[in-house]
Amino acid sequence: MSASTILQELREMSNYLGAEHRGYAIIGEGNTSARIDKDRLFVKASGTCLATMGPADFLEVSISKVTRLLDSKEATDDDVRETLKSALTDPAETRMPSVETMLHALLYAYPEYNFIGHTHPVFTNSVLCSVHAEEAMRGRLCPDHIVVMGRATVFVPYVDPGLVLAREVRDRVRAFIDKENQPPKAIALQNHGLFALGSNARAVMNITDMAEKMSHILVGAYSMGGPRFMAAADIDRIDSRPDEKYRQERIA
Ligand SMILES: [Zn+2]
Repeated sequence: MSASTILQELREMSNYLGAEHRGYAIIGEGNTSARIDKDRLFVKASGTCLATMGPADFLEVSISKVTRLLDSKEATDDDVRETLKSALTDPAETRMPSVETMLHALLYAYPEYNFIGHTHPVFTNSVLCSVHAEEAMRGRLCPDHIVVMGRATVFVPYVDPGLVLAREVRDRVRAFIDKENQPPKAIALQNHGLFALGSNARAVMNITDMAEKMSHILVGAYSMGGPRFMAAADIDRIDSRPDEKYRQERIA
């Protein structure tokens, strides 16, 4: 896929996720990105609005340059700002990439991901800002939940956005893959929002839509005495059925 096609799909995905009626992001909330090649990505420029973004509102960033601070224990806020700036591939660029660019970039270490969408959906955050956040996000409610979002979601307790959050997400995604033997399709950030991870733009939109629908159902189920999550054996069965695998591939 050419860089201009990637940018076009990223713009459409961003406008979809930012559309006001969906309630996924308002004003400057959320951020999106897409892989261009092994070391480059497009990411939302800081201060732009998902709903109205055009192709010029994305910046091109070097993945290796923006992630080099991840293991530096003494990095300050100034170091983070400097790293974000110096990772821009256009030296004449004066705008700043999204504050969560580091998080997007480290996830592209996994070849399964080509598009990423981060939003603050109303029902998803109703769950993520509640006392039941962790158990609610880990559970699975019905077969379509598994088909679109996989067997489980990575849950990340609240930590400082930016560098600390990026490190925490990196550790938890690694632990998830060790346990589940497959890369996650979604990351739920307590008191913050959702990351949807896809091989294409459609998958990111589907995952976000499904996360929000399931969260809406969770809010209802907790009001009815609490959700009845699917049993592990039933989740395994759906996840391994050939007809569901076929459906999973067709949908994405
Ligand atoms: Zn956010």
